[in-house]
Amino acid sequence: MAYNCVVLIKQVPDTKRITGQAMNEDGTVNRAALPAIFNPEDLNALEMALQIKDTCGGKVTAVAMGLPAASDVLREALFRGADDAVLVTDRRCAASDTLATSYILSCAVKKLKADIVLCGRQAIDGDTAQVGPQLAEKLGITQITYVEEIKELKDDEISVKRNTGNGWQQVKTKLPVLLTVIDEANTPRVAGAKMLMKNKKARTPAELEGDAGKIKELEQKGLLIKQWDLDFLEADMQWCGRDGSPTKVHRIQSVVLAAKGTKQIEATQDGLNDMIHELIVDHTIG
Ligand SMILES: Cc1cc2nc3c(=O)[nH]c(=O)nc-3n(C[C@H](O)[C@H](O)[C@H](O)COP(=O)(O)OP(=O)(O)OC[C@H]3O[C@@H](n4cnc5c(N)ncnc54)[C@H](O)[C@@H]3O)c2cc1C
Repeated sequence: MAYNCVVLIKQVPDTKRITGQAMNEDGTVNRAALPAIFNPEDLNALEMALQIKDTCGGKVTAVAMGLPAASDVLREALFRGADDAVLVTDRRCAASDTLATSYILSCAVKKLKADIVLCGRQAIDGDTAQVGPQLAEKLGITQITYVEEIKELKDDEISVKRNTGNGWQQVKTKLPVLLTVIDEANTPRVAGAKMLMKNKKARTPAELEGDAGKIKELEQKGLLIKQWDLDFLEADMQWCGRDGSPTKVHRIQSVVLAAKGTKQIEATQDGLNDMIHELIVDHTIG
């Protein structure tokens, strides 16, 4: 049986390359100062979807919500083997917290009628790991988080191994299902030369500056990255953007970790007791 897989991909600032300009004066992220990359665990989610397609057939669609520049990660998904790409972009998405983000993404995924939805476990910028589970909730489908391996996929049933941190669980459920995938799951394939040549001209309508002739030409060649806004998604505006975001940021603090020397702890029961006492007094634990 062939499966329709939808992979959620977030374009994120490369948090490994933080410089002095990474923060604006008001404490918000200066995205312009950081290179934008494919969220690492979304590469693992994409690889899992591509392996499903390799084994069972079907289709892999990559979906990203973000600024128009997020088309870069969608092109990369096409280079790596995705069949189709959708960019959800709209100024009214700005200021969306995870609840609004997952609502907007759910409107897009519903249009794609997926058997299996795959997300990374966590994005390296927001870091909440909330979007996958919230998206499953809004789609009304089963979710399996921390997926390390698909053990079996047959007809409308999937069995996966999930990593619980101190062990593993094997979980079986009916499709449709949403999986959040961890980086231990696989080694993502690199872009293939054939796919790169085929898709290097793939563009969104915005990148073609709305030129109707060029849009039609790319559509006929299967090279148009779909671009959906909130009107197309028939999204309820009360759940989008600032209005749909109950999270309020009260204060942003710059945390500087400064080492104050080291302390040798004796490897004895007394040494450990002293250390635990000190950590409790410091309010580090307890
Ligand atoms: C009050 C508030 C205002 C905010 N305003 C803005 C803003 O104006 N602009 C802005 O860019 N961010 C904004 N954010 C951040 C935004 O809410 C998060 O980036 C977003 O909800 C994803 O959360 P996360 O990064 O924790 O992802 P996680 O939950 O850690 O991501 C898990 C997985 O979900 C999927 N996923 C997550 N986000 C996306 C996406 N956008 N597209 C496709 N797949 C995705 C990926 O597969 C990812 O691996 C705001 C946040 C708050 C709290």
